[in-house]
Amino acid sequence: MQLVFASNNQNKIKEIQKLIPDNIQILSLEDIGCTEEIPETAPTIEGNAIQKANYVTQKYGYNCFADDTGLEVNALNGAPGVYSARYAGEQKSAQDNMDKLIANLQHHTDRSAQFKTVICLNLNGEQHLFTGIIKGTIIDEKIGTNGFGYDPIFIAENGTQTFAQLAMEEKSKISHRGIAVQQLVQHLHNYEL
Ligand code: IMP
Repeated sequence: MQLVFASNNQNKIKEIQKLIPDNIQILSLEDIGCTEEIPETAPTIEGNAIQKANYVTQKYGYNCFADDTGLEVNALNGAPGVYSARYAGEQKSAQDNMDKLIANLQHHTDRSAQFKTVICLNLNGEQHLFTGIIKGTIIDEKIGTNGFGYDPIFIAENGTQTFAQLAMEEKSKISHRGIAVQQLVQHLHNYEL
């Protein structure tokens, strides 16, 4: 069975491919010839995941899933949230985003935050949403070189290392995306593949 993952982020494609059963072939946007940028203009994480999955299914006719993730910081009323990728500007720089977040948290003692991933699956005319959440803490210095995005400044609840210090497999076991993907995989097992 073929399933398009509506993403061009190689880190995420690798992470997800390791978790999906072998009898499901994941196709990237490049694989189906989708080279245009898919609009992500919804005001919520859920809305963006739905928008991306629907774009691929409607325009290219594939079963597809799309994910959208945000980092929600409690002291900042849930920011950067749906704007996590472009928090410090359209250049979408992870370093700039982390610097801005550290600066904005300078005078806050509440360091609690959560990553939230929503996956929207369009499968044989039905739509399903899966949500994964990992709670944790934002720290002031960047530690670790693995992963991407805000990983160097995020320590998961009950953890001692940042996400950027964990191996990909370790992160996937506990991460927001890992949790959402596990739900997706469980759901796919219910289908005749
Ligand atoms: P996306 O919706 O998955 O593209 O995520 C939006 C933004 O959230 C990314 O550009 C990153 O800044 C951040 N992000 C998403 N997932 C992760 C993660 O696993 N670790 C750190 N940052 C992430």
